[in-house]
Amino acid sequence: NEESPLNFIEHIIEEDLSSTHSKDELRFRFPPEPNGYLHIGHASSICLNFGLGESYGAPVNLRFDDTNPAKEEQEFVDAIKKDISWLGYEWDTECYASDYFQQLYDWAVQLIKDGKAYVDSQTSAQIAEQKGTPNTPGTASPYRDRSVSENLELLEKMKNGEFGEGEHVLRAKIDMASPNMLMRDPVMYRVLHKHHHRTGTDWKIFPMYDWTHGESDYIEQVSHSFCTLEFLPHRELYDWFLDQVYDDQKLRPKQREFARRNLSHTVVSKRKLARLVEEGIVTGWDDPRMPTISGLRRRGYTPESIRNFADSIGVGKRENLIDVSHLEFNVREDLNKKAPRVMVVLDPVKLVITNYPEGETEWLEAENNPEDESAGSRKIPFSRELYIEQEDFKEEANRKFFRLTLGKEVRLKNAYIIKGESVVKDAEGNITEIHCTYDPESKSGSGSEASLRKVKGTLHWVSAKDALEVEVRLYDRLFTEPSPDTHKDTDFMEFINPNSLEVITGYAEPGLKDAKPEDKFQFQRLGYFVVDKDSTSDKIVFNRTVPLRDSWAK
Ligand code: ATP
Ligand code: MG
Ligand code: MG
Repeated sequence: NEESPLNFIEHIIEEDLSSTHSKDELRFRFPPEPNGYLHIGHASSICLNFGLGESYGAPVNLRFDDTNPAKEEQEFVDAIKKDISWLGYEWDTECYASDYFQQLYDWAVQLIKDGKAYVDSQTSAQIAEQKGTPNTPGTASPYRDRSVSENLELLEKMKNGEFGEGEHVLRAKIDMASPNMLMRDPVMYRVLHKHHHRTGTDWKIFPMYDWTHGESDYIEQVSHSFCTLEFLPHRELYDWFLDQVYDDQKLRPKQREFARRNLSHTVVSKRKLARLVEEGIVTGWDDPRMPTISGLRRRGYTPESIRNFADSIGVGKRENLIDVSHLEFNVREDLNKKAPRVMVVLDPVKLVITNYPEGETEWLEAENNPEDESAGSRKIPFSRELYIEQEDFKEEANRKFFRLTLGKEVRLKNAYIIKGESVVKDAEGNITEIHCTYDPESKSGSGSEASLRKVKGTLHWVSAKDALEVEVRLYDRLFTEPSPDTHKDTDFMEFINPNSLEVITGYAEPGLKDAKPEDKFQFQRLGYFVVDKDSTSDKIVFNRTVPLRDSWAK
């Protein structure tokens, strides 16, 4: 089955190992352009390449594809490195396409001498017009037969900044009648008078992607260059460019393609994510609503949950839309094992235990994680006045309501069994207090007969006088549409969910005062939450990673 994890890619490698390649010749690369932050789509490519590196014991290069100075920045280089490391992968060599500018230039000079490249002095519109259509051959540029010496002179002047942007380009001289439009004398270099984040103002010409990528693979001796399917028609050009420089004493890289992975209710494209940042829809690339690795980290995702997600969807040959609930499933699975349980009330109503002594505080034992014995336990304060969730009480309820109601019993988690007795209301009839009684013999873990009594329903709570006020940020999907950027006549920005963030105050057990950014918890019965970097010593801020259950599932 081609869709099972790594299957068809591993098959390609296995075949090469049994014919042309030795195991120590394997080398892979992950080649981001530093024009934005990595997103969940990149995670698929990272897990593919670094995963292959791990299973074959082969090196994986991190190659910055930095050939477009207009969009690239050091900030993005740094963020990309941080995110890959955080995911738990180590690259062999940190490489930059810009380190190969001189070599690429020397090769371009050679191509001109071989009669395989020429300087075209037409506008890009004219060049595009002459490309023809897939069914009709293109028209040769009037500059196609320029002499070698004139081409060499012009290229050098382009390089030295003697021409303005758009005045000339260098084109490969291939075939203006090729059925593959990309082979119709593709542009190799354009003039750009822009500052490059690494080469500064040294270069006034910049190589195009196709001219750069395969040659970079060759320089680094990458054996398999995996890219997404839209590059399939580029493969012929990748090979043509390699043919021009290939020395058969060396390893010849192969480009192979796999399908892009898209995630529902978001956009996975750096360019589109950049718009969300620039237009202030989100607070930055690491806004917890962003599908970026840094956004997911801030949202409370673990590296393991992202890797497991990527592995579970695997690589395929057909593009598809993965529902975001799969990603959420993976983080729940991981946090269920790792996150300590705590009690926090998000929508409080006061509960008074009328037969509990006034002014007394009792410290009760609470297990930190039933999934992990080594997580131990902690003490939490219990007193006469507590907060519970408003939705956990109804004055009258049918038999299916297993929470608190008048005349019925429920257990307070880690504490006692209580029974609803009466309510206090304000002038408008809103409940301001619930009065109840507790069974002093029913303390959790005491082993007494009363403690073992079965009652339907267990509620979380906090002691009102001891509660820590915290800010809680509740996130929803950033887009209301599953596939916002595939609507023909509607810009994806039209589908922004106006209610993707709700900020409330929560009441937490006091031990949470020591929580630090990136600490993760299960708020019992509510979901998984993580401490945000916006927290101060006065106020801890929590982000909801995901509710406990998939509220979108029907
Ligand atoms: P974007 O449109 O977001 O800028 P890109 O493909 O231009 O994406 P690159 O920085 O060039 O971004 O990508 C680095 C690697 O990640 C490439 O090999 C690319 O094919 C891969 N990649 C990018 N997006 C996805 C995706 N959604 N699914 C799988 N792989 C992806
Ligand atoms: Mg790219
Ligand atoms: Mg891109």
